[in-house]
Formats: sequence, structure tokens, C-alpha cells
Amino acid sequence: MTETGSCLVCGSTGPEVLFTAKDHLVSGEDFVLKRCNVCGFTFTADPPDEKDIAKFYLSEDYISHSDKKQNLTDHVYHLARNYMLRKKFNLVSKISGREKDALVDIGSLREDGMLADIESGRGTSTLVDIGSGTGYFADCMNRKGWNVTGVELSDQAREYSVSRFGLTVISPTEIPAIKDGSADCVTLWHVLEHLYDPVMWLREISRILKDDGKCIIALPNIKSADAVWFGSEWAALDVPRHLWHFSPETLPAFINGYGFICTKVIPMPLDIYYISALSYRNRGCKLPLLRGIVTGLFLTVKSLVKKDKASSLIYVILKQHR
Ligand SMILES: [Zn+2]
Repeated sequence: MTETGSCLVCGSTGPEVLFTAKDHLVSGEDFVLKRCNVCGFTFTADPPDEKDIAKFYLSEDYISHSDKKQNLTDHVYHLARNYMLRKKFNLVSKISGREKDALVDIGSLREDGMLADIESGRGTSTLVDIGSGTGYFADCMNRKGWNVTGVELSDQAREYSVSRFGLTVISPTEIPAIKDGSADCVTLWHVLEHLYDPVMWLREISRILKDDGKCIIALPNIKSADAVWFGSEWAALDVPRHLWHFSPETLPAFINGYGFICTKVIPMPLDIYYISALSYRNRGCKLPLLRGIVTGLFLTVKSLVKKDKASSLIYVILKQHR
């Protein structure tokens, strides 16, 4: 909802209360979700002011997942992260027409990084990763020869990605320094739902993307099988950190209003297990990981043919040429 009280997506007024959801991660406070009765866009109706939001990120889960591998959860987390890095890398390569790169395994790249850099012709493609966090994805792309600039709000995460990986990472206030029409690809992995001014960011993305550039946006799906299953206890609501709760209907409608078209929607395969386990943990259930995996499998099989029911979706959006 905008400050004038109209829907961010369709502009109509008069949203209805959907339900109240709890912040299980940090504050334990309740927040109200509302839904536009015209286009169905759902949003957190009463988030904290932007100046006060930092304290809602003060959780172990949001601070850098370090490289420790002490217990089973750490091991599962590392396996999942490496799998997702490979998926993201292959996707960006394919969408950007650099499929040859995608055939090379990331593991071997780490070992012979220099050789891979030379073979792939470092510097030929430019990527801006908005919300680069601790920098694992940016590092992966950087090693494969992309010119990568990370954009990250958290000083702590920015410093980590610079010292750990030697990446170029700027703060959001420095985004005007990125030249017009300079990026082949802009990525936002689970970031747009956190942004207080998504319209400003869409305008900046449009400015920095080349005319034939691609923007990749990953988001939780409020219409997913697991969102319906868990209702107000769905962990990916993640209030009040998630301000906007998009679906395969509302994201394309939103970006259309700012000169983009959505050309592809791709399901993210692992999120349903993680989100289901977290939802059970929030409920206080025993064995949340096991229950999450069983529920994830059940819902995946149940909605197998419907990719728009996936827990998280990746949207590929392009600049519309008028
Ligand atoms: Zn609406």
C-alpha cells in the first residue's frame, strides 16, 4: 500500500484484513496482513517505520551463516547452499546466453579459479546483485568471469563479503554511481519483498540495465501450496521483514506498471522443505525438520504439475520496448 492508501499494484483503495501473523524470529509481535480486493495483492499493513526496522533483523538466522560445519543442520545448510549456487549460476548463464559457462562445475572452478577466469573471458558481462548479503552468489559469479557489483545495506555483511571474497560491494545510497545501461543482468534473490520503496528500485534497475539486459527476481509465493497449508503460520510470511507478499499474478502486474514484462516464471525446488520445517518449528512441533521434509514431499507431489504452486518463484523480467 502506498502512502496515499492505494494498492501498490493496481491503485485501487479499500484492502481487506487477511489475517494477523506473528514475528517468530525476533520480536514475537503480531502484524496485520491486508489484501487488495481488486487485484489480490497482499502486504504487511502495519510494518515498523524504515528507521526502526534494523532491530527486527537482529537474529542469528539473519546474521552471516558462517562456514562452520558443527552439526547436521550446518551440513544440510551447506549442501543446500552449494546446490542453489549452482542452480542460480546455471540460470543466469542460460538466460544471459552464456550457456557454455554453465557446463563447468563450480567445485572445479574453486580449485582452478584462475584458469576458468581466463577461459571464460573475464569482464565480458556485468552483473549487479542487489541485496548481495554475505556475497556467496556474487563470489560464485565473479569467479566465473563476470564483472560483479554487490549492493548491500548491512555494513556487517558488506564488510564480510569484501574481506572474505574481495568483492566490490556498495551500499544502496551509492547506487547512482552505477552507470546508465551498464548491466547485462540484475539479480534480487529474496530481496524485493524487504524493500520499503520497491518502485524506486524498479526505476533504478531500469536505468542501470542494458536495453537487452535481464532482471531476475526470486520471491516467496503467497499462492503456493505450503502458504495455503500453513496459513498465517507460513514461515515465509516473515513479518515484519517481508513487506510485500507477491504471487504469479501480482508480480507481473506490478512490474508492468514500470516498463517491464515478465517472460518466464521458474520454481525454486528446495524452499518448500526449508519453509515447511521452519513453519513447524514456529508452531512448536517436535521434529520440525522431519515433518517439514514429509510435508514438503507431500505438497510437491500434490502440486507436481503446477509450477505456480511452488514455495518460491524466480521471475525473469525484461525492459519493455515501446
Ligand atoms: Zn490491487
